[in-house]
Amino acid sequence: MPEPDCPFCAIVAGRLPAEILHEDEQVVAFRDIHPRAPVHVLVIPRRHVRSLDAVGGDDRELLGHLLHVAARLARDLGVAERGYRTVLNCNGDGGQTVWHLHLHLLAGRPMGWPPG
Ligand code: 5GP
Ligand code: ZN
Repeated sequence: MPEPDCPFCAIVAGRLPAEILHEDEQVVAFRDIHPRAPVHVLVIPRRHVRSLDAVGGDDRELLGHLLHVAARLARDLGVAERGYRTVLNCNGDGGQTVWHLHLHLLAGRPMGWPPG
């Protein structure tokens, strides 16, 4: 069920504008509103899933699909060969701020390690 106050449910529903790069029956990918790298895309499930901590066994295929779409987008955006980072922040210490599962795809500059 969509969450009434969730910005990413609003993007999925078309109620909140976003620069959408990919849509299919399971996921939507769009540019982050505050990009942290020249390429910063979020890949999210259409269904409201609160965090990685909330996924179940039935979500295995969805989790694989999120990564597969990110890898395809990286190739389509021309950043795959140089390299990129995928990040999934979970809960408070993980730095999660939007409570709808999302995978970050970051590229276009060298990434530091370890993350802050
Ligand atoms: P988190 O910190 O939860 O891993 O990442 C949330 C991300 O969502 C942040 O990078 C933030 O800039 C992005 N974001 C938050 N609200 C919106 C929005 O309304 N539209 C878009 N496109 N990105 C958003
Ligand atoms: Zn949501």
